[in-house]
Amino acid sequence: MSSVLFRRVSLSAALGLALAATLFAQTPAPQAPAPAAPPARVPGQMPDPSKEPVVVTPASTLGQPPSDAIVLFDGKDLSGWVSQKDGKTPAAWDVVDGAMQVKPKTGGIQSKQGFGSVQLHIEFATPSVVKGSGQGRGNSGVFLMNTYEIQVLDSYENKTYFHGQAGSIYKQHKPLANAVRKPGEWNVYDIVFHAPKFDEDGKLLARATFTAFLNGILVQDHVEVMGVTAHDRPPYYEKHADKLPLGLQDHGDLVRFRNIWVRPLD
Ligand code: MG
Repeated sequence: MSSVLFRRVSLSAALGLALAATLFAQTPAPQAPAPAAPPARVPGQMPDPSKEPVVVTPASTLGQPPSDAIVLFDGKDLSGWVSQKDGKTPAAWDVVDGAMQVKPKTGGIQSKQGFGSVQLHIEFATPSVVKGSGQGRGNSGVFLMNTYEIQVLDSYENKTYFHGQAGSIYKQHKPLANAVRKPGEWNVYDIVFHAPKFDEDGKLLARATFTAFLNGILVQDHVEVMGVTAHDRPPYYEKHADKLPLGLQDHGDLVRFRNIWVRPLD
């Protein structure tokens, strides 16, 4: 190659390199996405190691009262119960074969003792002779704090509104499953109820909650109660005492209850 040609080639290469460098410098490099920020950590709280869990002796048969339970009905008498009408008159329901049975038109009954948050065990049976339909068939109810009803109903092949069947928080939360046994057979409720909280002025600080198993099947999973479970008006909260009786409903049907015990949680 002649020296002149070599210079031209060198010049072209240099110009090309310079142009490429210029172009490269003007083209922004594609940017990698910024790495996602790690989720914020929420600090936890360690339990107080000085507070040992209480020792509770379970019953030899599951469902019977453990050592620290308050037994409200053991199949013998209604000495722990009074009429809901005045909170004083002895309960007028019948005791039949180790169970208490609704005596229609005498009204609901309530425990003499008041409770706030509780673990409650209660068994019920709707009449084996089926009468009526919908809400008129084997209807009663368990009223926590005499105010918040978890429904008792013969819901075995018995259509009614979904938030009014057995296992419902009446007219507020339908059960997660229809888990009732056949009419006349015993059903078992295991319930965890947390009482609502109010401040001194009556302002609601925390709603009541229910978790409930019916015959060992989860029917309410820590649901918040919207207030009084009335059948004829929307729910509402109104400040009440920290502890109130457990109520059982007289809805005119011969519903039976047995093996009723609570473990206070507050
Ligand atoms: Mg009812």
